[in-house]
Amino acid sequence: MKYLIGIDLGTCNTLVYVRGQGIVLSEPSVVAVYQSTNKVLSHGTAVGERAKRMVGRTPGSIVAVRPLRNGVIADFQVTEAMLNYFISKVHNFSSWRRPRVVISIPSGSNEVEKRAVMTSAIRAGARRVYLLPETMAAAIGLELPIDEPIGSMVVDIGGGTTEIACISMMDVVHCESVRMAGDHLDDAIASYMKRQYQLIIGESTAERIKMEIGSAVPLEQELETEVMGRSQTNGLPRSLKVKSQEIREEALKEPIHTIIAGILNALERIPPELASDIYTTGISLTGGGALLRGLDKLITKDTRGIPVHVSNDPLRSVVRGTGIVIEDIDTVGPYLESSDDRT
Ligand code: ADP
Ligand code: MG
Repeated sequence: MKYLIGIDLGTCNTLVYVRGQGIVLSEPSVVAVYQSTNKVLSHGTAVGERAKRMVGRTPGSIVAVRPLRNGVIADFQVTEAMLNYFISKVHNFSSWRRPRVVISIPSGSNEVEKRAVMTSAIRAGARRVYLLPETMAAAIGLELPIDEPIGSMVVDIGGGTTEIACISMMDVVHCESVRMAGDHLDDAIASYMKRQYQLIIGESTAERIKMEIGSAVPLEQELETEVMGRSQTNGLPRSLKVKSQEIREEALKEPIHTIIAGILNALERIPPELASDIYTTGISLTGGGALLRGLDKLITKDTRGIPVHVSNDPLRSVVRGTGIVIEDIDTVGPYLESSDDRT
């Protein structure tokens, strides 16, 4: 059987689909490097889950980095090492064939970024690389009617960016990438804790607060959680309780507003026929950020009534899309940008 791999190279999580096997890997997009040289720790043993566990717990000389943090490849070599590790982890090297790889990339990627992804994947062992715009991958994974002359809107809220796209007849008619997503919600929570309580908390604590009690609209039953951090005044560990109302009103409100402004902006820019389709078919919300409580309700309210469908498996719709594409690569492949176009 032809060897094919689909990769969702996300700013937070990387997922891999192998043809005939399904989703075989899902790990954080994190790599541990030596701070002074930015070299990856030996033999890629500190990538993914293992590297994430090191965040904030490493000796000063080692740091865990997210090479795609802001939705672009910030660090070429580290990204390559990460892809290399993930590909070799799923690739059966007893087979001599090198895999063809479909990689989803942010829809707004420029030529330099596209080339960086392709080169990294080829050096990591791919024979040929196809690029699939992330929102298209999500739409395919969500099984939206994208090959019909009907507008579909996908909003993918990841870690570093929110991708907003309108798709019709297998084409991305309009897309926007807003640099406001999950990471920024975490940052907003951390700065609120500092401002309000002089409590310093780490990234993963901020993320946990968001997941446990974060919300976009008032909850029927408001929540609270215990937070452990370090006091800014005396440097000692301190724990306190925070409530969902304050996190929503004081921390999350503004970044969420920016995300919704991006959606409104996109709706204004697409052709009116497609916009009116979306008023009836609705917006599909995916990516990890889709899991924030009540975000769908707030989007419906702020768009004056567009229905919002939250994907039932939002962390995996993109990789599912790459999987559907590789199962049918001979038909779809010629329509995708690929590394062979550039040689
Ligand atoms: P990427 O595609 O950029 O790797 P993902 O789609 O994997 O991003 O989503 C990761 C983001 O989703 C992170 O910011 C994470 O905190 C957020 N997330 C995951 N689960 C939840 C949840 N239950 N509530 C709110 N945010 C969540
Ligand atoms: Mg993603």
